[in-house]
Parts: sequence; C-alpha cells; structure tokens
Amino acid sequence: VFDVSKPWLNRVIERLPRARLTAVSDVSFDIPERGVYALVGESGSGKSTIGKMVVGLLDPSEGEVRVRDVDLASETDAAKVAAARSEIQMIFQDPYASLNPRWRVRDIIAEPVAARGGDTRGLAERLLEQVGLAAEDAVKYPHEFSGGQRQRICIARALAANPKLIVCDEPTSALDVSVQAQVLNLMSDLREEYGLTYLFISHDLTVVQHMADTIGVLYLGRLVEEAASDALFETPRHPYTQMLFAAAPRMDAYGREVEPPKGEIPDPINPPAGCAFHPRCPIAVARCKSERPEMRRVGGARVACHLAE
Ligand code: SF4
Ligand code: MG
Repeated sequence: VFDVSKPWLNRVIERLPRARLTAVSDVSFDIPERGVYALVGESGSGKSTIGKMVVGLLDPSEGEVRVRDVDLASETDAAKVAAARSEIQMIFQDPYASLNPRWRVRDIIAEPVAARGGDTRGLAERLLEQVGLAAEDAVKYPHEFSGGQRQRICIARALAANPKLIVCDEPTSALDVSVQAQVLNLMSDLREEYGLTYLFISHDLTVVQHMADTIGVLYLGRLVEEAASDALFETPRHPYTQMLFAAAPRMDAYGREVEPPKGEIPDPINPPAGCAFHPRCPIAVARCKSERPEMRRVGGARVACHLAE
C-alpha cells in the first residue's frame, strides 16, 4: 500500500520495486457491530494507513475491506459501494485542520446531509446539543471554539451522516489532557445512544483501555498481538506490547517513573528480517533474526512471537 499524497510520485515509486514501501501487510481483523476495536502502535506502525483504507481514502494493493457482505476494495457495483461507504465516517486527530474556517458551524455539520439532498432543518442545532454544545452555536465560526469544542463539532458532523462505523484517528491527542477524557466520555455515550461501531486508532494504550473491547497492537505494519482489552491489560503477551505498557506515562507500584521505550523504530522501507521487532526485543533468540513469527492463538489472544508461551 502506498501512502503517498502525490499521484506522480506514487507512479515513480511503483516503477522502483526496491524502494517499494509496504506500509501494512498481513493485517486481518474483524470489528463486530457495535464493538470498539482499537489499533495501537507507534508512529509509522501503519495504523493511520489502515484507517484510511477503511474509510476509502486509500485502496489496498491486495486484500479486502469488507462492510458486511460488500468488499469495498473490489466491489464493482458503484451503488453498493456508495451505500456501504455512506455508513462510515472518520474523525481526525486535528480538529483545527478538518473544519472549514469560513463556514458557519451549521453548514459544516449539515454538509454531509445537504450533499445528499437531505433535510437539514434544525439538524445542526439538534446535533450540537447531542455533543454537549448549544443550539445557538450553530451560527458561529470554528475559530470561536476551543480545541475540545471543535472536536465536538467534528463528532456532530460525523453523526449527521447517520453512520454505523466511525473511524477515529487519534481523536483526542491534539487536545489538552483535561479535555481528552470529556471527549472520550462523549464518544462512549454516543456509541450507546446511536448503536455505533468504532475503529479507534491511537499511539497510547491507556487512552483506549476503557473504550475498546478488543485491541490490536501494530508494529511496522503488522499485527503483533490482538486480545480483549481486559486480557491485554492483565497479561500483555508480546514483548512489544509489554514495552508499550512500560512506556506509558505512569508510576510503578513504588511511585517511580517507569522506563521509556528502548531503541529506535527501524526504517519501514527496509524492515529487519525475521521478527521485525528483534533489534529492540529484550528476549530475542537466534531464531528471531531469520524466522518471522506467525500470528497464532495463545490463551485467548492472538500473538506473533516465537516465545509467546
Ligand atoms: Fe522478541 Fe523473538 Fe518474540 Fe520477536 S519473535 S518478539 S524477537 S522473542
Ligand atoms: Mg497517524
């Protein structure tokens, strides 16, 4: 998968097989209806690329993105694809960049419905109240709001399209810590109320802990562990997951700050052979340098590590 914004550059890269960057591969996961699936990994792990593929901003070079029985990547019936796509909305990390500064909030929120020729009367006012803002805010412009309020506006706009699935790419990481929990709580409440399904993308395990039913941990474009949220926090099995926990900003049982992660993320164009995590892995053995571990069931989880047991 090429995640490059310039089409001409993409064409050049395609002719250079040695420079080919596989952003994501062998990643397979299911999100049950009304479930919350979190993809967690450091920057460069491929999590945003997967989010973009799910909402259709990128096409996979191989593989499927299935919404119920429709494979968005290969379905040729345009009406079916459009219907499936209309059930998916995305919320981005930066609420500043994703709102048109020259539009009133009312028009921003109603836009997805207006584009389909739907009835937008009172829609923005109703949704603003749903996300904890005031109906009177509909006539204001984005610059009149704080970061947290702008993210609420983005959420209202996503809801206007009446989605089933919302892909949330780091929806709170641009916000002040004090505001993050409020936005996450709002998203939880809306999920209940609208029966939403979330794909939640984050670099921070602690952010997704209370939101997610299931967590998939990505490293260099591959899933290395997938488990129920509770089980993952109780027993992280992959050494990389354990490293992410150790890096989370928190104190240990003795009130000392815990260790930051060790080692650099390798170049994704030229990932290490065998287990791509081996240069950073504290328990790597000889086999890890040459043999890539497959995902397999260990306890209730799926883990890609030779030593998962
Ligand atoms: Fe570490 Fe080897 Fe497991 Fe990779 S396969 S995480 S290098 S022990
Ligand atoms: Mg990202």
